[in-house]
Amino acid sequence: MLATRPAPDAAPAAASAPSAVPLDILRQVFGYPAFRGQQAAVIEQVCAGGDALVLMPTGGGKSLCYQVPAIARHRAGHGVTLVVSPLIALMHDQVGALEEAGVHAAFLNSTLEGEDARRIERELLGGRLVLLYAAPERILTPRFLAMLDSLHERGLLSLVAIDEAHCVSQWGHDFREEYLGLSQLHERYPTVPRIALTATADDHTRADIVERLALGEARQFVASFDRPNIRYQIVEKDEPRRQLLRFLRDEHEGDAGIVYCQSRKKVEETAAWLSDEGIPALPYHAGLDAEVRRRHQDRFLREEGIVMVATIAFGMGIDKPDVRFVAHLDLPKNIEGYYQETGRAGRDGAPADAWMAYGLVDVVNQRRMIDESPAGDEFKRLQRSKLDALLALAEAHDCRRVRLLAYFGEDSTACGNCDNCLSPPAVWDGTEAARKALSCIYRFRQHGGISFGAGHLIDVLRGKLTEKVSQHGHERLSTFGIGADLSEVQWRGVLRQLIALGHVRAEGEYNTLELSDSARAVLKGDVSVLLRVPAEAPPRRGKSSRGKSGARASGKDKPPPLPLDEPGLERFAALKAWRAEIAREHNLPAYVVFHDATLAEMARECPDSLDALAGISGVGAKKLEAYGREILRVLGH
Ligand code: ADP
Ligand code: ZN
Repeated sequence: MLATRPAPDAAPAAASAPSAVPLDILRQVFGYPAFRGQQAAVIEQVCAGGDALVLMPTGGGKSLCYQVPAIARHRAGHGVTLVVSPLIALMHDQVGALEEAGVHAAFLNSTLEGEDARRIERELLGGRLVLLYAAPERILTPRFLAMLDSLHERGLLSLVAIDEAHCVSQWGHDFREEYLGLSQLHERYPTVPRIALTATADDHTRADIVERLALGEARQFVASFDRPNIRYQIVEKDEPRRQLLRFLRDEHEGDAGIVYCQSRKKVEETAAWLSDEGIPALPYHAGLDAEVRRRHQDRFLREEGIVMVATIAFGMGIDKPDVRFVAHLDLPKNIEGYYQETGRAGRDGAPADAWMAYGLVDVVNQRRMIDESPAGDEFKRLQRSKLDALLALAEAHDCRRVRLLAYFGEDSTACGNCDNCLSPPAVWDGTEAARKALSCIYRFRQHGGISFGAGHLIDVLRGKLTEKVSQHGHERLSTFGIGADLSEVQWRGVLRQLIALGHVRAEGEYNTLELSDSARAVLKGDVSVLLRVPAEAPPRRGKSSRGKSGARASGKDKPPPLPLDEPGLERFAALKAWRAEIAREHNLPAYVVFHDATLAEMARECPDSLDALAGISGVGAKKLEAYGREILRVLGH
């Protein structure tokens, strides 16, 4: 078996017969010293011709799980690996990254001219391609299947890799009808091994993948879903724009990141406003022209420090490693969505932030969207319970990560890298306040038979004699003024919690408040309500606490991921400038040429020979050959 043969000690294989041993391939082609997590086990399974289902979080290193077997099996004479991907817009960069590493790869999609497509088809049929990327709708055409048949007959269809495999499930929001047709491939080529990969963790999706792609026999590899380098922070929404701006200016000056909003309109307004504030922001949503979307995505990937303001239409498959933050200005629908979106930060393993502002309006809106949707009752019940889990996360006083991982079935202990761990919030017993609010809602109904919204309720509780109060005679209610001891902000916290917990519902056009059945237990004092003390100014982090060194100049000159002295910083800057030129020449994002971490290691170690340069993580044989001398020159040798 290919995978089980012991690897020779870090030795590059003889030039004449390239090694088909996975560890050799990792070292020679990708320049990495060791496999991570379950990569080695997955690769062994697939190289040996077995099927695999791989569940790993974003940034976990899924690509190598099929790329290394593709190379190994091609070297062993098994032919091409077909990579199924829904992301036409990203295929160019994915293939570019492989070609940079010296792996012969290509894609076939609608963006190619006829001439180019025919050339690639010749490479494919000649058995020269190692990997071919294509979208499912293309693969399932008669013409494409005929090519696969021809390869298969000659023993040159080596492996089928199905990326973003959760697209086969209707469960999430990424369902693609065309994925359902992929089961045909297995029927046609039952002996060809398959590997399906996804970053979606829940059991339901996994079961769908197994069933719909006929992967019952596949070995399943489920990695931990923890992303230790991501710091989770959920702040109470007060003035969201000001809060976001402070977060960006204080903690992410010059960084690339994503700001998620719920509606297209809000995306555009927020992007325009950030631009006015001098932050390079671009909008992205499904309502924009395809050409505009492509251009914005390209700029986000190729330029440094772009902030993408987007709906959830943006993000799947974005493999930019240095997204330093993901901010949510609106509440996502559930924890799956929150985790997937925040997971786009920090793929490179360096510190990154997941920041969300959350408030009463979010709770009310999300609950209403479910209530008013045309979906069936069972579906609504499910959506509600998923939303409840997310609200519990937002209202939590204890470790956010423990809760997130528990949701995905993983046990863990307090992480030390979320807002609640770093500065445990003060809590106050809001039970009495909650009872006052509930009884006031009850009195409204009793008094005039109508219900009111949060603003009016708070006025009555605080004893404010507004026009509306006197119009309805609410100053005569026994609950008028019983809550003068709390501020308006505190009352909003109480109501948000009551709605989040489901004791109160906001209904109709004016979000008027109604008691739920469960309110009775609170009124009777059987249930206590603990509330976070709203932070006046949310805890800030000094930049130095992130373990980065070097002064953080604003804008483009961000410090490298590793501590560097003054000459090291100069070398790093020179290497980046050189990389930018190469990236432009090759029409690829800079990180495809070399990651920041690789450049930083070069700048720190300052290798003075090709041999020494080969020892830097991320420098494979092809890149060494193509760029080695130039890098030595840039380093001053
Ligand atoms: P995923 O597809 O699971 O989100 P990727 O395959 O894009 O993750 O990998 C994330 C990053 O980690 C990439 O930049 C990749 O080069 C790097 N990486 C993956 N495996 C290794 C490894 N064994 N050693 C070093 N870096 C790795
Ligand atoms: Zn924590």
